[in-house]
Amino acid sequence: MDELREPRFWDKPIEALTRTQWEALCDGCGRCCLHKIEDEDTGEVIGTNVACRLLELGTARCGDYRNRRALVPDCLRLTHRLAREVPWLPSTCAYRLRAEGKPLHSWHYLECGDRDAVHKAGVSVIGKAISEVLAGPIEEHIVEDDFWPDEDGVTK
Ligand code: SF4
Repeated sequence: MDELREPRFWDKPIEALTRTQWEALCDGCGRCCLHKIEDEDTGEVIGTNVACRLLELGTARCGDYRNRRALVPDCLRLTHRLAREVPWLPSTCAYRLRAEGKPLHSWHYLECGDRDAVHKAGVSVIGKAISEVLAGPIEEHIVEDDFWPDEDGVTK
């Protein structure tokens, strides 16, 4: 836990973070837990608002984080390399931002001390997602970029 007391550890290069600090980077938006569709012809990744069945839509938290990869085999464990390479992480994702050498946003709990700020900024899945259990055909749940507020949490 002392690792999390290190002043502004989140500003360090991602390779310099301890595992605990790396885990703490997540802003809790839940958006990496939304399904994507890949266009077979172009390879383009298209976003939807359909959530993994484990995602708790009222809190944007995984319902079984410890066992998630056993329960959902294609759930990815985010690594330094993936943070740099996967095209579908939202532009607001703390891992993506730090992998690109950018600072966290003012609503990130590490910056403002408020775990709910990400939700108040409208950047998280709360109020925006539907569970895959209820969604029906995923093609009916495609969302455009303007579905989400911009990087500062301002609705477009
Ligand atoms: S998109 Fe990034 S910041 Fe948001 S929940 Fe997923 S890993 Fe965490």
